[in-house]
Amino acid sequence: MDSDENLPTKIIQKLLWLRTLLKNLPSALPTPQRGEIPKYPFETFRPDAAHLQKTEDEVGTINEGFKSIFGWKTWTTGDGIIPIEERGKHRIGAVADLLERYLKKYKDSSGQPNAVLVKWVEDISTGCEKAIKKHGKELPDIPVDNQVLKRKHAKGKGDRDESRDEDTSDPMGKRRKLGSKFDDLCLVNSSRKVVAGPGRKESDIIKRLAIKYQHKITGDPYFGCVAEQCSWLQSGNASKPCVLKHATTPCKHLSDEDRNFAFSSSAGSSLGSRMSVIAASSETAAARSTDSQLSLKSGSVSLDFTQAGKEEWQTVLDFCIMKLICVQGIVPNILDSDEWREFIAVATKNKLKATPSDAFEERHISNEASHVHKATVELLKKEFNLTLTFDGGDTRGQDSVYTAHATTADRKTYFLHSYEGTDEHHDANWVKNFIFQSIDLVGPEHFAALCSDNTGEDGQAIKVREK
Ligand SMILES: [Zn+2]
Repeated sequence: MDSDENLPTKIIQKLLWLRTLLKNLPSALPTPQRGEIPKYPFETFRPDAAHLQKTEDEVGTINEGFKSIFGWKTWTTGDGIIPIEERGKHRIGAVADLLERYLKKYKDSSGQPNAVLVKWVEDISTGCEKAIKKHGKELPDIPVDNQVLKRKHAKGKGDRDESRDEDTSDPMGKRRKLGSKFDDLCLVNSSRKVVAGPGRKESDIIKRLAIKYQHKITGDPYFGCVAEQCSWLQSGNASKPCVLKHATTPCKHLSDEDRNFAFSSSAGSSLGSRMSVIAASSETAAARSTDSQLSLKSGSVSLDFTQAGKEEWQTVLDFCIMKLICVQGIVPNILDSDEWREFIAVATKNKLKATPSDAFEERHISNEASHVHKATVELLKKEFNLTLTFDGGDTRGQDSVYTAHATTADRKTYFLHSYEGTDEHHDANWVKNFIFQSIDLVGPEHFAALCSDNTGEDGQAIKVREK
């Protein structure tokens, strides 16, 4: 019944999740360099010809090949989860395409894909999840499945699943249209639930920017973005840093009011803004000046060994570490090394502990980005005759990156806006919208010129804009 090209929805979703995980493997994992023998040579993988001739069983031969690539030890020792020790688009990254090809080729008599191959999709996904968690990272956002979405829309109205989705006044129905991952979730009525514990502000932020769900069958908690068009979904209980991080950076669906709310909430808890509070409370006149002078002042703070003094000291220290990482482009993972912990212990005479890298990655850096962004926009709003420059490029992880900078009349350039991702098609219209968004951050009346290297889409976008 199914043609070769049609895999069951369940398998398509499994492959999509695997691809998403492969793309989001922690950057701490090495990528094999040119000339190095990769651990996972999936781009050039061929079933072993001798084994195939002997057994005349291609799936069996592939199975043996995979086992020897991932190592026999995996199944006999430890937790039985495949260790993923390298990343890279053409190595481990190529495994999803390879498995998809074989899944389309091998089906059982009822048209279902081969169970051995499906198991490999699942096992490698579990391995990736473990590798991501091991490095203290959050699992990626569960992807929206365009193919499934298209099929759903193509289906007739008689379909009984469809009738549930048709009701657009139901907030759950709207979300189910974004992807099947919402299918088994129901809304949690958050207004009835009073969030106890410290930080009433935390609950306010979550209430405004997040939606809580519960899995109908398992009862597990989930949370997602408040924007109805946004498919961002995370498992577990909603946390302020996680919600703010999504709202201030990757979300493209939030209303301007909600985004501004997110930026100001996030900026308020940044190290930079806490630094200004420390500065303001200090009696010295010098405290009002620049950050670098502030950091020097920490000598006097270090003599205060009360709890409050320690917190202040830690803030100043973490602020310096954050600047070191961001300005010098250092991988935050070094902060988890024994050498770094020793350095902090010696430098602070064991009075302070080294802050782990995920605190910087998940909170400090994104909060500071909001803080700096807010300050930049405030500053640019005082300027006129600004020039907007923008450019596109690729990251090593194969994502597209677009950046927009604003340059003032006295030639100071400020980073204004950026985009990273592959989920949208970056045509002239998209680039035009990106430019408009960048300009609207400050206000069109502040800009006098627009400039780029005029390649392809950018050039066309300028033409669209000129119109
Ligand atoms: Zn969102």
